[in-house]
Amino acid sequence: MSLFKRSRFTALFVLLFVIQLSAQKLPNIVILATGGTIAGAAETNVQAGYSSGQVGVDILIKAVPELKKIAKIKGEQVSNIGSQEMNDKVWLKLAKRINELAKKDDVDGIVVTHGTDTMEETAYFLNLVVKTKKPVVLTGSMRPSTALSADGPLNIFNAVAVACDINAWDRGVLVVANDKILGARDFIKTSSTDVETFKSPGFGWIGTVHYGVARYYRKPFTKYTYQTEFSVDRIKKLPKVAIIYMYSNNNGELIEDAVEDGYEGIVVAGVGNGNMTKAAEKALAKAAKKGIVCVRASRVPTGYIDRNVEINDDKLGFVASYQLNPQRARVLLKVALLKTKDTKTIQKYFAEY
Ligand code: ASP
Repeated sequence: MSLFKRSRFTALFVLLFVIQLSAQKLPNIVILATGGTIAGAAETNVQAGYSSGQVGVDILIKAVPELKKIAKIKGEQVSNIGSQEMNDKVWLKLAKRINELAKKDDVDGIVVTHGTDTMEETAYFLNLVVKTKKPVVLTGSMRPSTALSADGPLNIFNAVAVACDINAWDRGVLVVANDKILGARDFIKTSSTDVETFKSPGFGWIGTVHYGVARYYRKPFTKYTYQTEFSVDRIKKLPKVAIIYMYSNNNGELIEDAVEDGYEGIVVAGVGNGNMTKAAEKALAKAAKKGIVCVRASRVPTGYIDRNVEINDDKLGFVASYQLNPQRARVLLKVALLKTKDTKTIQKYFAEY
């Protein structure tokens, strides 16, 4: 071989070696797909009607070829459902799988694709029961994968970028959508149609992410993931907790029905400061006397539900939800009931989590 040929061969070898080395350095991210609009499909690209959970995880990943530049991706299909169908079984499967993956040295971060309808609940559930400092990032979309200007691909790209980011470690479970990074405990879905649906009134974003470049402003205000005292790794079933919506003229019958149906906890989505009609209060007090844990939350999206404001929680044995909305109060109560029925301890959990 001539000297010229040999040096070209060596240069090529070195180049391939460098490419391989830099490829090895990319973070390893696992995408756990659960369904939702992000995996939804419609017959045309400009129609409101569509079905959630139609497209598998491989297709979601293929739709974003840019992912290859930032991470080594593996996909797993946990479920393929609209998140209106999200349930305890999938929650437990998801939490256990995240805990297994997070323990592996060759997993740097986890992304969960999920419908937006109940992302609040799943994100908060995971925030209470997964045990890791590694990034666990949920994302979804408001437009199905087949839509004109689908928001899913950029959301997945940004979610993976956050999952790859060392600065995202130890911030609890995160949600990435429409260039925002939100805390699992602190965001709400505010619009049934707008791509800027997730907002964090009263708390603020954890950060922003713009074409994969993340900036962080804060950490969660309450305990999360590895800091909590909850674990579901050996749990097969979660306790039944109902939410009863309050309105004028409520006669308390739905609360009585929940008691008869064997619910272990009841969250009232009360009016104002977790208030309710006298009839509902009476039915709830009866439930509390029977040992059912009763939490007063509010249907009002912001504010604080304190103890003993217009209702005597001390006397009636109720728990106040403090900052948690009814859907998150239900999640915390389900997890809390795995440990205790003591209302004082559960009230403490509402302050801490
Ligand atoms: N119904 C859908 C879901 O939650 C809506 C969405 O993903 O935005 O799965």
